[in-house]
Amino acid sequence: MAETYDVVIIGGGPGGYNCAIRAGQLGLKVACIESRGKLGGTCLNVGCIPSKALLHTSDLFRTAQEDFESMGIKTGKLDVDIEKMIAQKDETVEGLTKGIEFLFKKNNAEYIKGRGKIAGPGKVEVEGADGSKQTLETKNIVIATGSEPVSLPGIEIDEERVVTNTGALSLTSVPKRLILIGAGVIGLEMGSVWSRLGSEVTVVEYLDRIMPGADSEIAKEAQRVFKKQGLTFRLGQKVTGVEKMKSKLKLSMEPAKGGDTETLDADVVIVAVGRRAYTEGLGLENVGVTTDKRGVVQVTDGHFKAADGVWAIGDCIHGPMLAHKAEDDGVAVAELIAGKAGHVDYNLVPSVVYTNPEIAWVGKTEDQLKEEGVEYVKGKFPFMANSRARTNHETTGFVKILADKKTDRILGAHMMGPCVGEMIGELCVAMEFGAASEDIARTSHAHPTLSEAIRQAAMGVEGWTMQM
Ligand code: FAD
Repeated sequence: MAETYDVVIIGGGPGGYNCAIRAGQLGLKVACIESRGKLGGTCLNVGCIPSKALLHTSDLFRTAQEDFESMGIKTGKLDVDIEKMIAQKDETVEGLTKGIEFLFKKNNAEYIKGRGKIAGPGKVEVEGADGSKQTLETKNIVIATGSEPVSLPGIEIDEERVVTNTGALSLTSVPKRLILIGAGVIGLEMGSVWSRLGSEVTVVEYLDRIMPGADSEIAKEAQRVFKKQGLTFRLGQKVTGVEKMKSKLKLSMEPAKGGDTETLDADVVIVAVGRRAYTEGLGLENVGVTTDKRGVVQVTDGHFKAADGVWAIGDCIHGPMLAHKAEDDGVAVAELIAGKAGHVDYNLVPSVVYTNPEIAWVGKTEDQLKEEGVEYVKGKFPFMANSRARTNHETTGFVKILADKKTDRILGAHMMGPCVGEMIGELCVAMEFGAASEDIARTSHAHPTLSEAIRQAAMGVEGWTMQM
């Protein structure tokens, strides 16, 4: 007779693998099925990690090229070895995926290679890469199948010249002319990498702004900075197709509001127009799980329940499509299955754009507060006036804190500047504890540090900013 599991997870990305490890720690009998051949999902294999590896190396190259001399550091002529750069990225990815396999073993979570399909209540069928089949019996099924990139009509992805994030992270040479369709977070990170390495990058975006989820003041300033770095923006443009010719690609677009078609030539086109839940062919109908039109699994609000004994987490449900959100979902579900309390506050999931300068935010934007009619006070502090930023010659950007006018409770924080991806954590903790902006303003921050800009912005809310 088949063994019965407490939990079988379909998908080994940040949602699935964290759920598996936590379930193992809680003493549940757990298996995680992954079809990719490697654990880590989109994030580790073709997302967060490889993109940050390339962002880091390309930023070092740009800094050495453009900033070293003014700081008194002499170098010879610098060059890029793309093959080596891609190889060191792959090595990092490999090391981290192996690390998850180790954590599975350490925490008694079973890793099953293959494609999972729900065969009925408490039954998951697994098809191995060699075609072999087995059926697992389980008390709980967790759907953690993530998301996949979407494209546009008239565009055929080949992952060589017309690429998604997957191809964009493994190009074998620096394209001379690169067009990026979509000015969201993923697109801007990819555009930054290749622009720093020498590509002429044109960003084509349907909306009349970049980074639609970000605070509009930050987005406007970011666009100005990226333009100065060499990115060309064509906003309010609808891409209608990409024609593949032998020597080049021809992208057609027309104004989103209507007008004449225009064409742009490119060597590589990156399509970064969003991602959709990956839930096709999973056998959801066999257990009464429903999805919306975009494939997003419908769950009871806050409880991740998709049907009796079926849970769903990460990119394939509602909420921000971010690795740390998927991870928190996974841990919460393992704890709920083990009879404990599991909860994730989607209002306090931080977002970070790993460009230079970095951009980070948590909580409400000014646009949202205005729309909701919430009265707020804004404190803002520029890195130009922060002594550590000045010593490091990294003075672009600012910290902005939004607090409730009556209670002083922090409602949102928005930053652009050096290391803000790390610094946003302070605001996440403060907001989790329901802090007022005065709490931050009265907390000692080491001098000279970048984080003093956070304190100064909080002091700005109180009306007593002090630093120069
Ligand atoms: P996924 O990571 O997509 O994992 C799902 C897994 O399920 C996949 O490995 C898939 O192979 C597997 N699977 C699917 N169907 C089956 C099946 N039937 N059987 C077995 N296995 C199956 N987020 C951040 O927080 N920070 C970042 O810096 C960041 N950068 C990104 C950069 C890029 C270029 C991209 C594309 C994404 C980035 N993200 C980032 C988003 C992040 O990668 C996702 O939010 C995260 O991976 C979602 O985790 P998940 O576990 O829900 O799904």
